[in-house]
Amino acid sequence: MRIDIITLFPEMCEAVLSESIIGRARKDKKVEIVCHQLRDFAFDKHRRVDDAPYGGGMGMLMMAEPIALCFENICETLGKKPYFVYMSPKGETITQQKVKTMAAEHENICILCGHYEGVDQRVLDMYVDEELSIGDYVLTGGELPALVLADSLSRMLPGVLSSDECFELESHYNGLLEYPQYTRPEVWREEAVPPVLMSGHHANIEKWRRQEAIRITHERRPDILESAELSKKEALFLKSLEESEET
Ligand code: SAM
Repeated sequence: MRIDIITLFPEMCEAVLSESIIGRARKDKKVEIVCHQLRDFAFDKHRRVDDAPYGGGMGMLMMAEPIALCFENICETLGKKPYFVYMSPKGETITQQKVKTMAAEHENICILCGHYEGVDQRVLDMYVDEELSIGDYVLTGGELPALVLADSLSRMLPGVLSSDECFELESHYNGLLEYPQYTRPEVWREEAVPPVLMSGHHANIEKWRRQEAIRITHERRPDILESAELSKKEALFLKSLEESEET
């Protein structure tokens, strides 16, 4: 997959995307991420990319033309139109399911980071396929949301994590939050690791982890539990949790 990011702050994006797992994945060519400075597509000598909104009001808006020119340049480089996403608090909120689908469906994704009060609607209407949000709050710019999307997409790609199991067992992948985890020492400040994890009995460990995942999801996010695939025994376990709350 190749991800192109259109931003006023490419250095900020590069700083994050050059580190750790994503930085390594880029070096190993498991994912290609290219950050574009929008000001390179400004057409006045001051490299301005914003202007005041028609109708008045607070703040400035990003102008349509530099964004269109930058996106068209990316299309030309790729030889095709990437799936174009604008990070926006007005968009659909990203979920793990959404990221999984996007990673499976699109080989090329371009992400536009807004700034100021946002972007001239006409370029969004002309080019953008989808607006995506990272939550119901407003940030100063689209860089952090774009980094969230690029990171979550990248870790879905083959070879970026050590195995698919790394994300398949994690929170939100299968409608369950992750079970609690423990590492050395076995007793820390008089708190011991749950004995089942020390038993070496893999079937019991697996059963305990699934039940803990169901219990935590039931407590914290009953809304997502509906999409989880539970065995008959697990459904009974969930029922027993619900019944114990009623009494
Ligand atoms: N005036 C806009 C509104 O009320 O919807 C908010 C603009 S915000 C100050 C500037 C930019 O930050 C947006 O254009 C968008 O790219 C980004 N942004 C802010 N919050 C976001 C969020 N929750 N999810 C995704 N992008 C966000």
